[in-house]
Amino acid sequence: MSSGRHGTRNKALGNSRSTVLNIGEEFGFALQQIVQEMLMAKTCYMCDSKRTSYEHVPPKCLFPEQKDLPDGVDLRKDLITVPSCDVHNSKKSEDDEYILYVLLMNISNNDVAKNHFLTKLMRAIERNPSLFNKFIRRREPVVAHDTVRDEFQETMAVQIDYKRFCSSMEHMARALHFHHFKRKWSGSVSVYPDFLLSMHPVSARKTNEKIEKMAKAASFMFDGIECHGKNPDVFEYQVADGSNGVDKSMRLHFFGGARVTLFFNKQG
Ligand SMILES: [Zn+2]
Repeated sequence: MSSGRHGTRNKALGNSRSTVLNIGEEFGFALQQIVQEMLMAKTCYMCDSKRTSYEHVPPKCLFPEQKDLPDGVDLRKDLITVPSCDVHNSKKSEDDEYILYVLLMNISNNDVAKNHFLTKLMRAIERNPSLFNKFIRRREPVVAHDTVRDEFQETMAVQIDYKRFCSSMEHMARALHFHHFKRKWSGSVSVYPDFLLSMHPVSARKTNEKIEKMAKAASFMFDGIECHGKNPDVFEYQVADGSNGVDKSMRLHFFGGARVTLFFNKQG
């Protein structure tokens, strides 16, 4: 370790000196963890490749810029980042925009989401209308019940690429796991969004009943658990650490209305 007045002299090593510290089991464990975290920070959160950049989780585009907000409001405080390789960062940019569309289209979102839609999203659509046109290609008019305000609204439902959404959420889950637990997650992840409903002519009712049940169970399970995240109007998350033999899980809250529950499955 280091040399000093209290170092023990080892004659076999000539003039070199070493100090044997009795650091105790607890401190030794903490030290081991620090070393491991330093090594971890040098590789990507998804794979073992070298870190080449830091990636925002959730994507930075979800958080409104100051120019689109009233004076003094900052919704980009202490954004979470994780180390990432080129492959797992660069290929995500279109997915990030897609996720933004899906999350902002949720009817029970807060006013931050609505403002974000009218500013940032409208600019993005003007710049590159093709992605948005693709996004709304399969749409139909619906009457939706806003349960928060207890109002009925004429709006439209858009059929989304559910696999793409869940795959992005899975990446987010692994990144948040890395951030929160300082460890990579190598098992599988199950994704349950509360706010994406089925419009299937035959199976919609059954599917939506399941989604509603799952949402109620998740709300109950996470009730009263601490929320993390410095910009809760945009994003915050809760963690159930998997004690009592239950899988570790997280509940993500976007714009006060769009919720996603994640299970980190021990098997598989
Ligand atoms: Zn990677």
